[in-house]
Amino acid sequence: MNYEEKYSDLGKSLRSSLIRELLKYASVPNSISFGGGVPDPETFPRRELSQIASEVIEKEYNYVLQYSTTEGDPELAKQMISLLDNLYGIKDLDVDNVMFTTGSQQALELASKIFLDENSIAIVEDPFYLGAASAFRMRMSKFITIPLEEDGMNVDILERKLKELDNKGLIKKVKFIYVIPNFHNPGAVTLSLEKRRKIIELAEKYDLLILEDDPYGLLRFEGEHIPSLFKLAERGRVILLNTFSKILSPGLRIGAVIGDKEIVRKFVLAKQGTDLCSSALTQRIAARYLERYDLIQQITPTIKLYKSKKDTMMKAFDEYFSDIKGMKWVKPKGGLFTWVTLPEGFDTMEMFEIAKKKLVFYIPGQAFTPDDRPSSSMRMSFCLPPHEKIIEGVKRLKEAILEYGKSKGLI
Ligand SMILES: *Cc1c(COP(=O)(O)O)cnc(C)c1O
Repeated sequence: MNYEEKYSDLGKSLRSSLIRELLKYASVPNSISFGGGVPDPETFPRRELSQIASEVIEKEYNYVLQYSTTEGDPELAKQMISLLDNLYGIKDLDVDNVMFTTGSQQALELASKIFLDENSIAIVEDPFYLGAASAFRMRMSKFITIPLEEDGMNVDILERKLKELDNKGLIKKVKFIYVIPNFHNPGAVTLSLEKRRKIIELAEKYDLLILEDDPYGLLRFEGEHIPSLFKLAERGRVILLNTFSKILSPGLRIGAVIGDKEIVRKFVLAKQGTDLCSSALTQRIAARYLERYDLIQQITPTIKLYKSKKDTMMKAFDEYFSDIKGMKWVKPKGGLFTWVTLPEGFDTMEMFEIAKKKLVFYIPGQAFTPDDRPSSSMRMSFCLPPHEKIIEGVKRLKEAILEYGKSKGLI
């Protein structure tokens, strides 16, 4: 059968992601992969969760094994509201300000449905989080990209582009600014307080929404927590997306949308048509977990583990890369990634072939460009390989860099 002629325009446009293709290689024996973007399974509190799972299935079966409301578990909403108060200083929320989703990914997809038409414009960061890219692409393809710097998106460029759009009469087409404020995926940088304020000021000036995607905020290794845009802005301006994927377990598939009641209501309506409701079982497990345990205390060992692996990677970079002129990397203060940029002229996609032979893997920066342009950067995750593999992997990467650089006359 010829399926092609049956597909919708959207169906026709769907392609396997570059990451999916590249990561196929990473399971070859003896390979070292910095490619994956997932937490270390050893950090999942499996004993606690299995105990709670069996309790809630036995005692709360009429709730957890049943359909639930589209909004999600009110018990989890209570826990979420108190977490946001205690950890982020976000006050005065009630259950109508919160909706749970099947991972933050669903929130991104629902945002895409709610806000974007084919000719809408979304302001995004460059490099661009792939999950958001694929969600937003479902609806439209017009992105305005703002480069990331050491301290987050370049707000001067943001200001200039917004002014241009306004001058061309296009500002009403701009629906939101999408920001990952802490330990960016893939850029690894954190948005400074001054820039948070500037983005809010511009959003107010041009009357734009801000979509704040913050999966990593609690995974801070060092330095002070910076207030979220949600907290800093006037109420209603920012929609905050949160998830338990990076701090508890991605398998639970629990994300949260936090925002103005009217907006949350709209998300609920969009979600009804998507999946009726998220799993009551995993939401109630998370609710009872948060009730019983102190989340911060629970994730302290995880943070320590990631920090020590990050330190190992940074030390290996210093040792192996400091003699490569023009090479630089982000020293992340939290999260799962660093972002490495090779000297001008390098193409990390092309270099992947050499790295593959040396059995070391990363994600080429090209995967994160909105327009599929070659990149001299790459995303590297430090959270999964053991310490000695991190060092060995960096050593192999150095060999790949030298071999590629020499073959191209770049070093
Ligand atoms: C991991 C991640 C998410 C969340 O994914 P889930 O669907 O909640 O598992 C969202 N945004 C970014 C930037 C991420 O890195």
